[in-house]
Amino acid sequence: VKRIPASDSPFMGRIRRPVSRLSSLILVAALVASVLAAGACARAEKVPPADLILTNAAVYTLNPAEPWAEAVAVAGGKIVYAGAGRGAGRFRGAATRTIDLRGRMVLPAFQDSHIHLIEGGVESRLCNLAGLETPEAVYAAVTDYAARNPGRPWITGGRWDLPVFPAANPTKEALDEIVPDRPVCLFAADGHSAWVNTLALKIAGVTAKTPDPPGGRIERDPRTGEPTGTLRESASGLVSRHIPETTAADVLQGLRAGLEMTRRLGITSIIEASVERSELDAFAAMDRSGELDLRVLASLYVDPDKGLPEVARLEKLREAYRGPRLKATTAKIFADGVVEAHTAALLEPYLDRPGDRGLPLLEPEAFDKLAVALDAAGFQIHVHAIGDWAIRMTLDALEAAEKANGARDLRHHIAHLELIDPADIPRFKALGVVANFQPLWAYADPYITKLTLPILGPARSRWLYPIGSVLRTGAVVAGGSDWPVSSADPLEAIQVAVTRRGPDAPAGPAWIPEETADLRSMISAYTGNGAYLSHEEAVRGSIAPGKLADLIVLDKNLFKIAASEIHTARVLLTLFEGKEIYRDPDF
Ligand SMILES: [Zn+2]
Repeated sequence: VKRIPASDSPFMGRIRRPVSRLSSLILVAALVASVLAAGACARAEKVPPADLILTNAAVYTLNPAEPWAEAVAVAGGKIVYAGAGRGAGRFRGAATRTIDLRGRMVLPAFQDSHIHLIEGGVESRLCNLAGLETPEAVYAAVTDYAARNPGRPWITGGRWDLPVFPAANPTKEALDEIVPDRPVCLFAADGHSAWVNTLALKIAGVTAKTPDPPGGRIERDPRTGEPTGTLRESASGLVSRHIPETTAADVLQGLRAGLEMTRRLGITSIIEASVERSELDAFAAMDRSGELDLRVLASLYVDPDKGLPEVARLEKLREAYRGPRLKATTAKIFADGVVEAHTAALLEPYLDRPGDRGLPLLEPEAFDKLAVALDAAGFQIHVHAIGDWAIRMTLDALEAAEKANGARDLRHHIAHLELIDPADIPRFKALGVVANFQPLWAYADPYITKLTLPILGPARSRWLYPIGSVLRTGAVVAGGSDWPVSSADPLEAIQVAVTRRGPDAPAGPAWIPEETADLRSMISAYTGNGAYLSHEEAVRGSIAPGKLADLIVLDKNLFKIAASEIHTARVLLTLFEGKEIYRDPDF
C-alpha cells in the first residue's frame, strides 16, 4: 500500500488528531474565559483587536453548539469570535472596522463541489448565443461580440438553439454580412452542428466538390451543391480544426473570468470537476502569485482505457500541483453518459429501445480494480454516474476498495446521481460515500418532461434525484452546479432542492414531494459538507473561533422568506480569509 506523501497530510485523512487537540484547547480557553467573565471585577481580558466586526447580524453558524449568533469578529483572516452582540465589544480596537448588518444574514461562504470553472470561464469570453430565440437576436449578438473583440482572429463559441433557424440551417450569408473579414465558427447548443461563414469555408478548403466526411454532412444548396454554412457532426471538424488552439493566456483569462463569478456568488471553495494540465497550470500560477482567492480541489481525469498505469501518472500530478490554495488529490472517473442521449447506464432498458440499457464506460471488474488502486494510493475518487446501473457499479467499486484496503476516510463521492435504485440508497451512508447532487436539475423542466420521463417511465422516474431519501439515511449530501452546464448560483440550487420546482416558479406542489430537502440540509450541502468533502472541515465550513473567515452576507435571512423566494436573496459581501473580495455595488 502506497502511503500519501507527508506534505499532503494536512488535508488527507490525518486531520483528526490535530482537530481534537485544537477543540480541547478551545474548550479550555472557553472555560478560562467563562471563569474570568464570571469574576467579580470587571477586568478586561487581553485579546488582540479584530480587523473586522460584523454586528447586528443573523449569523447561521453551522456550529451545532451555538447555531445562531449576532456578531462575528475576524482577526488575521480567522474568526476569533462568534456569539452575542455584547461579547464582540472586547475585540474592538482603534483600527477595527465594524459593519452594522441591520439584521442581514451571515453564512460560511459557499462551496461548489462540482464545477468546470476554467472551461466555463474560457467559454464565457467567447461568443455566447445561449437562450436567444430569434435569428435577429442571434445576429445582433454576433455583431456585438465581433465589435467588442476586434483583436480575435476567429469568432468562435456558439450555443445557439437549433429551432431558432428554419430547418436548423443558418446560412453563411447571414454571417458574411456581419463578419466578412474574419473566419467564424459557432457551435450549436448540443455541439452537433457548426455554423460558419464563407471565409471559414475558404480557409478549410470546403467547396461544392468536397465530399461529406464519414459520419458528417455538409448542408448544401440543392441546385449548385455549394455549402450553405451549416456543418453536421464530423463535418464541423473540417473547419473547427483550423481554429487556433486555446492558449495558456486564454486559460488564465478564463480562470479570471470564472473567479469574478465565484466571488459575486459567494463561492470561495470549489471542486473542479475534471482538469487538464493546462488548467492545473493556470490554477498553480495564480496560487503562486497569491491571486487565487478560491480554494481549489482539482479532480484529475482518469482515462479508463489506460487502466492501472494511470495511478502513477496521477500521483506525479498530485505531487506537482499543490500550493496554499490548490490541491489535486482527487481522481475523476466517468462511469456513464446522460439519459437524454441514451448513454446513461440503466439496470433496465430504455422504454423506447428494447434491450438497450446504455453503456457503462468501464467494465465492472476493471472499475473495481481501478478503485482499489486509486484508494490504496490515497486518492479521493469522484465519479460521474447518472443511471442506476452506473451508480450501482460505482458503489460496488467503492465497496471493493474498502474491502481491499480498509476504511481510509478518503470521502469518495458520486456526482449527478440522477436515477438511484431504491436498494442502493442506504449504501451511501453505509460506505461513507458522499452524495454530490446538482439540485438545480431536480424539477420537471423540459429535459425531464420531454426527454427523460418518456424513456424511463413513471415507476423509475419516481427515483429521479432522490435527495430527500438520501438525506433520511443520514448520508453526507454535498451540492454542486456543473457550471457552465447550468447556473452556478448556489441559492437557486438550494431553492430547487427545497421546492422541487423551477427557480422562477411561484409556490406550488413539488415534483416528487417525498424527495424535497430541508433548508438546513441544503445550506450544509453548500458549506460545511463541502468543507468535509474537501477534507477541510477542521479549518472552515462553519462560523466558530479558529475557523478561516470565509464568510458571506446575504440581504435576506433564508429562514424568514418563502422557499420560492430563496433565489431572490443577494450576496452583498464575500469575505475570503477576512478579506473583502466582493461587495454588491448597492451595499
Ligand atoms: Zn461535470
